Amino acid sequence: MTLSNNSIRSLLEIKDPNIKMDDIFYAFIHHTKVRLVQAHLIIYQRRCPLCGFEDLVHNGHYTSTITYTSDNASHPLFIRLAKQRLKCKNCGHTIMAKTSLVDKYCNISNRTKAKIMMNLQDDRTQKCVAIDNNVSPSTVGRLMDDHRELYPVFPDRLPKHLAFDEFRGVHHQLHFICIDGGNTHRIIKILPNRFKSSIIRYFEGVDRSARENVETITMDLNSYYQDIVSQLFPNAKIVIDQFHIIAMMTRAFNQYRSQLMKHYKYQSHEYKLLKFSWRLYLKNDQQLSDAKEYYDRHIHQKVTAGERIGLGLALDLKLNNDYVVMHDVMNYLAQRNKDRLAETLFSYHYDQLSKPMATVIKTLRKHLEIVLNAAENEQSNGPLEGTNRMIKQIQRTAFGLSNFNHLLARINLRMMRTKKQYQV
Ligand SMILES: [Zn+2]
Repeated sequence: MTLSNNSIRSLLEIKDPNIKMDDIFYAFIHHTKVRLVQAHLIIYQRRCPLCGFEDLVHNGHYTSTITYTSDNASHPLFIRLAKQRLKCKNCGHTIMAKTSLVDKYCNISNRTKAKIMMNLQDDRTQKCVAIDNNVSPSTVGRLMDDHRELYPVFPDRLPKHLAFDEFRGVHHQLHFICIDGGNTHRIIKILPNRFKSSIIRYFEGVDRSARENVETITMDLNSYYQDIVSQLFPNAKIVIDQFHIIAMMTRAFNQYRSQLMKHYKYQSHEYKLLKFSWRLYLKNDQQLSDAKEYYDRHIHQKVTAGERIGLGLALDLKLNNDYVVMHDVMNYLAQRNKDRLAETLFSYHYDQLSKPMATVIKTLRKHLEIVLNAAENEQSNGPLEGTNRMIKQIQRTAFGLSNFNHLLARINLRMMRTKKQYQV
């Protein structure tokens, strides 16, 4: 049974009225069984666009085989389109019929291209997208390069709150990333490296008045972004991410706890006190307020959570001091109590604390001003860490990307899928 022109058109959702469908049948292209649609494209033109004479005559066809979208990847669909050509008898100029189905000199339909761009928004590999759409992986890569105008480019307006960080990307290099730390969390810029010179060059390109509007910049403690901020953002306050402060302290506490543990005999009572239920040490007073007794199977006695910690801390004075400092800092950060936080940081001499904790306190005292800002401002690097997690996932799925522009494209496309403000 042969399908009519209209039924093939409605099946393939082809809108161009100048395309006339002739037939659809199975054929072999490069030893693969495909569905082939035979069609021709008519041109309606009377005057020559060059000389203006009504001397156009039919001049054969230009036939190309166009890749089209198909719901069945094992039987790809091709359209063999014969485009009508005209020739001007007066000046010899030739014209070929044009269509919205496919670009001139291109064998991949615009519909396939659009579908590839949609597929690239998902968490899947370039190769997988290529196979599904019956094109080569390098075609997919080329499309990503060609459609840069699709990706959201934000004007040189900077939001009030920025967040700086870096992530490991192409060729194991660290890339600088800056996002809006306020409400939208959109990516402002990703640079191919994180050299001071490139960051400064980028922000110097942004209008000075835009830079003056920035109020806070969130970052982690061990970065040299502080110099850049003081140089480029005259009104911005540096805020250290609260999460980093707490992570540093808990890491130091756990380090000393396990050091101490190894001084005791293996499986002794003291060893077990320090080794097990270590999560209790990190809980705050409120979480420990539950006075319910339970049987601790490691130390073979009935205790409440508070008593259990007390037993462990009683073993060593430095461990006890570490514990107190750590929890005071956590509490005052949560309560946004700047003065008490400063007091806590100076309440102990380094000798009274364990070595790892003393190092952390020393660092915090050194950066006192920006650490205290953390207690005052509610901005954190949380959204940025989330974005970094997404970028990591993209690279993991792709088994690592070697082209920085493709990495940027995939990040932008993924953001378009997941974040509302990216959708055009
Ligand atoms: Zn002419």
